[in-house]
This record gives sequence, C-alpha cells and structure tokens, in this order.
Amino acid sequence: GWLEGNATLITGGGSGIGRAVAERFLAEGASVTILGRDKDRLEEVVRSVADPSRVHTVTADVRDGAALAAAVAETVERFGKLDTLVANAGVWDYQRQLTRLSPEEVDTAFDEIFSVNVKGYLLAAQAAWRELVKTRGSIVMTLSNASFYVNGGGPLYTASKHACLGLMRELAYELAPKVRVNGVACGGMNTDLRGPESLALAGRSISASFAKKGPDTPPPPIPLHDSSTEPRDFTGPYVLLASRAQSGPITGHAISVDGGIGVRGFARAAGGDDL
Ligand code: NAD
Repeated sequence: GWLEGNATLITGGGSGIGRAVAERFLAEGASVTILGRDKDRLEEVVRSVADPSRVHTVTADVRDGAALAAAVAETVERFGKLDTLVANAGVWDYQRQLTRLSPEEVDTAFDEIFSVNVKGYLLAAQAAWRELVKTRGSIVMTLSNASFYVNGGGPLYTASKHACLGLMRELAYELAPKVRVNGVACGGMNTDLRGPESLALAGRSISASFAKKGPDTPPPPIPLHDSSTEPRDFTGPYVLLASRAQSGPITGHAISVDGGIGVRGFARAAGGDDL
C-alpha cells in the first residue's frame, strides 16, 4: 500500500468521508485513530474492518483542545508516532440564507459552526504539530466546494469553509519546511452530514437529499454530473497528499474533488452531453 506504516489521526472518523478515509488508509497499510462524538459509531468501524488492531478510537468533541491533545498522545502511545492529521469533522448549515436567519440564530449558529468547522481544525493542528514535526508528516484538511464557491452552504457554512482554506494556507507557511499542509475540497457526497444544534438541524442528515433522488431528478449542475457521490470515491487525493513519496513537494494546495464546478459553463453545466 501507499501508506505502509503510516499513523494517522482522523477527526470525524466514525462516518462519511472520515470513515471512508480511515478504511482506505487501513487498506493502504496505515494505522488510524478515529475521533468522533459517538462511541457506538466508532466501535462499529472497528468491528467492520479486517484488522482491528490497527484502529484506535477516541470519543471526543473537536471543540475540546485537551481531548485532541490526549488523542494525539494516545495515537503516539499505540502506534509509536503520528504521520498524518486528517482534520475533517464538520457540520453544514443546510444552505440557510441570511434572510432566513433570525438575529439570535446568526449569533448562536455562527458560534457553533465556526467552533466545530474552524476552531476544531485549528485545535487539532495545535495538538498535532509537534509530533508531525518529528515525523516530517502532514495535515490534510477536508475542505469543500464551499471553500471556493457560493451556494454550497449559506453564509455561515461558506464563510467557515473559506476560513478553513485560509487556515490551511497559513499553516502550510508556518509549519514549512517540516510539515506539509494541504486540503481536499470535496463536492457533494452521500454522508451523514448534520446541521447545527443551534438551528435545530442536528437531526437532519444530508443523506436524505440523496435518497430522494429518483429518475426524474435533474442532475447536479456540475460538468461531471453523473460522477459518484459515494465517499469512498473521494479518498484518492487524501492518500496522495498523506504520502510524502507521492506528494513531497506539495503544500498549501487544495485538490478539488467536486465534479469540475470550476469549469462549469453558463448555459449548460456540461458542454459535452452529446458526445
Ligand atoms: P458526516 O456527518 O458523515 O461526518 C462527520 C463526522 O464528524 C460525523 O461522524 C460527526 O459525528 C463528526 N462530528 C461532527 N461534529 C463533531 C464534533 N463537534 N466533535 C467531534 N466529531 C464531530 O459528514 P461528512 O460529509 O463526512 O463530513 C465530513 C467533512 O466533509 C465536513 O468537514 C464537511 O463539511 C465536509 N464536506 C462534506 C460534503 C458533503 O456533501 N457531504 C461536501 C463538502 C465537504
């Protein structure tokens, strides 16, 4: 595998793209610590993999810096080192526009979304950087189409994911030359992505919007509108960026894995539908 002997910590590793990255990294020869809020989910991942001895679980909230420090320490204790931090846990705002938010909701939902999506990444990086310096390791952040383009979220989510892009670039500067910091800017994936408690959206899952899709549903307005939305099909760039052999000179870069939103045309999403 591409990640033989690598030790990785993944926040939000109990479901969605975090879980898919954990499974892919295991298949590539890595050991992984998966951190998340839901103990049962993390244990279900351990039960489902071929070699549970290479998985460690930590039940914690990414807003808790001390818990992240403990997760790094446990990873080093169990696997001997830390090569890769995948900062990933996040919540979505279900594209709630400013005009549909009350002043109180703006106040509380801003704090919740930014503390999970942005502070969560910052605290994880703070907990991990010393160990990553020792291994000349790297950080891979899950970014989003919303790190670059509008309307993949509302103002709270879009601003938070733009902030994560800035954080990735700033840390790439600050941790160079020893630690590389990159991002994978995912497009729509069929995961269990939830909304914030402060908007009473914690019980809603993005998976419902994929389940609804029938044969008459128009395709998403992206050039590769028939590309997969399964999280496992988004894991390749994480492997690439975690592997120093494959991406040693790459830092401060986001790979977009979004079906080509950046080359979308005006009148039609794809110019080659008749090909
Ligand atoms: P998901 O909900 O399946 O996975 C996120 C995981 O993070 C969950 O296990 C959740 O319990 C955990 N989590 C959430 N808040 C947490 C907290 N405070 N502390 C600890 N764990 C917490 O959803 P996903 O889509 O796999 O989300 C992962 C990342 O992908 C997020 O950063 C999200 O913004 C990003 N993303 C998702 C999509 C998409 O369409 N699903 C698109 C672009 C980017």
